[in-house]
Amino acid sequence: METIFEAGREIPVKSHWDVIVVGGGTAGSIAGIAAAREGAKTLIVEDNGFLGGSATASLVTPLMSNHVEGKPLNTGIGLEVMERLSQSGDCGAIYNNLGYFNWEMLKFTLEEMYLEANGELLYHTHFAAPIMEGKQIKGIIVENKSGRLALLGTVIIDASGDGDVAHLAGAPIEAGDEDGKNQAMSLRFSVANIDINKFADFLSTLDGYKQDIRFLHTAHVNGKRYSITPLFEKAYAEGVLKEDDGDYFQIFGVPGRPNELGFNCPRISNKTDGTNIDHLTNAQIEGRVRIKRLLNFMKKFFPGFENSYIGAVASMVGIRESRRVRGEYYLTESDYYEAKKFPDAIARNRYPIDVHSHKKGGGVKFQSHIPENEYHEIPYRALVPLEVENLLVAGRCISASFNAEASIRIQPNCHAMGQAAGVAAALAIKENTTVRKLDGVKVRETLKARGANL
Ligand SMILES: Cc1cc2nc3c(=O)[nH]c(=O)nc-3n(C[C@H](O)[C@H](O)[C@H](O)COP(=O)(O)OP(=O)(O)OC[C@H]3O[C@@H](n4cnc5c(N)ncnc54)[C@H](O)[C@@H]3O)c2cc1C
Repeated sequence: METIFEAGREIPVKSHWDVIVVGGGTAGSIAGIAAAREGAKTLIVEDNGFLGGSATASLVTPLMSNHVEGKPLNTGIGLEVMERLSQSGDCGAIYNNLGYFNWEMLKFTLEEMYLEANGELLYHTHFAAPIMEGKQIKGIIVENKSGRLALLGTVIIDASGDGDVAHLAGAPIEAGDEDGKNQAMSLRFSVANIDINKFADFLSTLDGYKQDIRFLHTAHVNGKRYSITPLFEKAYAEGVLKEDDGDYFQIFGVPGRPNELGFNCPRISNKTDGTNIDHLTNAQIEGRVRIKRLLNFMKKFFPGFENSYIGAVASMVGIRESRRVRGEYYLTESDYYEAKKFPDAIARNRYPIDVHSHKKGGGVKFQSHIPENEYHEIPYRALVPLEVENLLVAGRCISASFNAEASIRIQPNCHAMGQAAGVAAALAIKENTTVRKLDGVKVRETLKARGANL
């Protein structure tokens, strides 16, 4: 590749914070709330003009269930957010999973809770580079409308989903499966102005049970039989859909958005690297083409969709897996199957290993082999990257193998990891120690005192 030399330059230092969180997404927004509540002067730096990340910008709802005996494994701030949203009817529970939420209203709730804790925000701001002194990260360089700025921080939390900070700071990273390929992406969307009662009645003639329109759910995956599969077969035969359109198709009801449904599709399996700008651009373009076909299909085949239209298309393509940062502990598939527990546990998980394969027609590999009513734990050490000092990671990019990540990546775990990173960062500052030297058992005890189920 041709290169040019970019000359060094002097840039202004905006300020110093105790904790800087890069990425105000699923994990980062909760990390910010947690650190600010502990009294740390906290800044969240976020590409978008709102918080929530995949939950809001990628329209990912609901929270997948992560329960044992009907009780949530992840409590704490994540659950508090959902409880607050449910007060306005923008979140609801099915089978004890308080996780069906309105993505638009989540933006409001997260921002309100963060500002109430005295957190500071820089929206429309892109992390560009770490400020390093040897192996210590001292701050970050960002780019935004005001130009290129230096932001100094005592502890930096990388909640970018892609491990952007850890990678550029020199932490070892890995990505992809045994072929080095990432999980498939999806460009989620919603359809509005649906006669949902009519559609629910139609589904009940296929499924044999009445769907609750608030939590309506149906799906089709090529190679498997679902109640709506014959409609896909007809649409393929008539040329309304292309075969790839049915690689994965899933609908969810969204509380607080009557007459609208959320779609966990279309899935993009050919170019799947969430850290490659050509792949990301392709996903938005190819995804929109497919969404148009899917809408035409539904208008023709789904009673109730006659007057419907596209409500929203995700502004951020949904990335299931990209960089994973190697840390003090490397969580593996064996830890999952053996339901491993740790003294420095910061989260509990029993969600299945859920791989959306990049392989053509690869479908979904579900392996829920963890024993009934069991869970494994995620240790604090998996949030502490190797090789870089003063840095924590939280969210789907923590230190885990491909298959372990495919299980822990769900939002309730990301909330728990975010809270742990925020609490640990503040604790390390209070104790005048580093996040690596910090006692993970103390982090666990503090999280427990703040309502986490540990
Ligand atoms: C298609 C799809 C469907 C899914 N379905 C479900 C589901 O049904 N239920 C469930 O519980 N989980 C689901 N998941 C998993 C879950 O949504 C994600 O794993 C989780 O939200 C990731 O959280 P995160 O905090 O790691 O990243 P994100 O929530 O993506 O947050 C990262 C944030 O960092 C910001 N950012 C990134 N880089 C920079 C930068 N350089 N500078 C500034 N800001 C930056 C981004 O804008 C974003 O806000 C799904 C995921 C996908 C992709």
